[in-house]
This record gives sequence, structure tokens and C-alpha cells, in this order.
Amino acid sequence: MIKIPLGSRILISACLTGCKCNYKASAASVNAADASFWNSLFEHFRLLPVCPEQLGGMPTPRVPCELQHNSEAVLAGVGKVLNRDGADMTACFLKGAEEALRFARLHGAELVVFKSRSPSCGVSQVYDGTFSGSLIAGSGVAAQLLLQSGFALLDEIQFREKLKTQGLTEL
Ligand code: SF4
Repeated sequence: MIKIPLGSRILISACLTGCKCNYKASAASVNAADASFWNSLFEHFRLLPVCPEQLGGMPTPRVPCELQHNSEAVLAGVGKVLNRDGADMTACFLKGAEEALRFARLHGAELVVFKSRSPSCGVSQVYDGTFSGSLIAGSGVAAQLLLQSGFALLDEIQFREKLKTQGLTEL
């Protein structure tokens, strides 16, 4: 079971912390209360924001991408990530995953909290590769590399639930 002591070093998707780094050049917050919650975490944890897609050299804004094979296959060199125009962006996703792992190790991250459904950061669900909004079970490329490297991962919903179960609702 994952415990989250106050002061933990948490590698976190930068878009969750208010960085306008997603494909639309927006942050992930859905409203002001949501943004305020994520900002408040900086007072209680040592947050390490990363955006694997930017670290992989992709521009912001950018054409959205989806996994065409599962992330294990992408990491093994036999799967691809394409953007909506059909361009092969696999190399950027692999580089971003490696950089996120390097950053996590460099700073001694004790937990990873990543944005759900992203082809880089998704923890338990990702889009199915058809650009139709359909979801399937799976993880993003950076999330999978961190998992395979021994890091504990939660998506943002699991993280908030975990804080509640630990009685940290006052954050
Ligand atoms: S790659 Fe991760 S951090 Fe960057 S925008 Fe996508 S979900 Fe957010």
C-alpha cells in the first residue's frame, strides 16, 4: 500500500500544477478550486513537476498523439506513437520518458503522480489510438518506464483519494 507522508518528494505531471504544457498549451485544472488544490500541495510536499512530452522535444502547442501499440511495446522498440496527422512521434516519447526517469532518480522521487489518459503520463487508462475519444486500459510511455524502474505511480484521481484516506483532506 502506498503511504504519502507530508514532505514527500513527488514527481508530478507539470500540467497538474498549473503549467500550460499540454497539447493545447493549457493546464490540466478544470476550475479555480481544482487549481487551488494543486497549488496548495507545494506547501505540503516537495513537488517535482515534469512534462515528458516537452522533455522529449515536442513543441507547445502540438498536434495530439496517441499510442498505436501498448507502452511496453513502444519501450521495447516494436510499438509506435503517432500524432493525429500520422507523423511518427515515437522517438520524442522515448526521449521524454528517459528524461523523466533521469529527473526522478536525480531528485530521489518517492512517488509519481501523473495525469490520467495521457500517452506519456497515463497511469491506468489511455486513448485507444483511433483519435475518437475511446479509452482502453494501459499506461503512457513515461509512466510505464517509471513503473518498470521501480517507482510507485498514482494518477491524479487515485492520489486525491489516497490523501483523503490518510485524513489529509485539509490540504
Ligand atoms: S505529457 Fe504529461 S505533463 Fe505533459 S501535458 Fe501531457 S499529461 Fe501533462
